[in-house]
Amino acid sequence: MPGPGAYWYGKEELEAAVEVMNSGYLFRYGNENDPKFLRKVYTLENELAKYEKAGYALATSSGTSALLSSAFALGLKPGDEIIVPAYTFVASYSSVIFLGLVPVLAEIDESLGLDPDDIERRITPKTKAIMPVHMLGNPCDMDRIMAVARKHKLLVLEDCCQAAGASYKGKKVGTMGDIGAFSLNFFKTINSGDGGFVVTNDKSLYERAFGMHDQGHTPNRTGVEVGNRSLLGLNFRLNELTAAVALAQLKKLDRIVAELRRKRTLLKELISDAKGFKFRTLNDPEGDCGTLCTVIFDNASKAAEVSSRLGSKTVDKSGWHVYANMEHVLAHLKSIGQPHTKGSYPGTDDILSRSMNISIGVVDGGLGAGWGININSTDGEIRKAAEQFVKACE
Ligand SMILES: *Cc1c(COP(=O)(O)O)cnc(C)c1O
Repeated sequence: MPGPGAYWYGKEELEAAVEVMNSGYLFRYGNENDPKFLRKVYTLENELAKYEKAGYALATSSGTSALLSSAFALGLKPGDEIIVPAYTFVASYSSVIFLGLVPVLAEIDESLGLDPDDIERRITPKTKAIMPVHMLGNPCDMDRIMAVARKHKLLVLEDCCQAAGASYKGKKVGTMGDIGAFSLNFFKTINSGDGGFVVTNDKSLYERAFGMHDQGHTPNRTGVEVGNRSLLGLNFRLNELTAAVALAQLKKLDRIVAELRRKRTLLKELISDAKGFKFRTLNDPEGDCGTLCTVIFDNASKAAEVSSRLGSKTVDKSGWHVYANMEHVLAHLKSIGQPHTKGSYPGTDDILSRSMNISIGVVDGGLGAGWGININSTDGEIRKAAEQFVKACE
């Protein structure tokens, strides 16, 4: 029960993978003079930069490693604080924790993204950056978040792992802040099983991210040593096979998002007369991925009742997407003098306990979106799901 890209795996992905196997080159670096070397990772990076309208794109092994490379590229140092929403996947925290950074949590608003009004209250002399997370394919309120960032001279790392294909007022997510990290995991808009990428318009950030992802090689190499290594890096490289599949998926991204938006709009129309809930805020209704439809009920008991009637659950029960459910993160934060417990973010707790995620394209029980429709659902199936939902609300 994955993301929409997996529903649309086809001969394009298969042929691309076979082509790479036949070429004999699986590593991202190969003999540039050998016509058999297909340069799939380089091609993917070029295509991603074009698609995202970003100066630079770097393919990585996962969204987590894209986040880690991005935070490293920003030059953040151990002890620096980064403001992160209390509702996000665990990797938004763990990636920065492994760099010695301190994630400082903040409330979400009814878009289920970082609440711009809560950021300023979390700023201390150690705050260096903000990480807006475009959760559930829905861009955050970026105008207001960027205004706070500029006012306080904070760096912005956009976590776009759930939002490939999303845009805000005509700009692709990931390109409004200093740097953006995306995931190509199985549960995301498009996928290659695992994988990820970083986008930025800043050459030096790109080069630092590149070095981080390739054992510290700066300047970039093409497989052979170039100059000294001034950075200490790790290995977060993508390989040719994965890149070939990702390229085939990237070509489908706009069609996937268009299809999901159409289905989401139809479902919303069909359920909008039911009582007791509203839809989450879309900061740019044209830019949301359409991967999920989130409904926010008037109270938590109604949300629990409706979701259980449908065999689903409320968003506060969605495991390691909610700060209160991350015992390991809470234990770490406590150990560094940042005690947060269940209940530390009452605004977030309240919204999530009243929310239910209906799948449109991402069918993921872990996200609390085990019920709904998928990208291949027919209009008849969408009508049937809508009827079920309306009945469950009565
Ligand atoms: C999936 C996800 C990640 C991590 O991506 P992986 O590719 O699984 O490492 C990070 N942040 C958010 C918000 C995610 O949903």
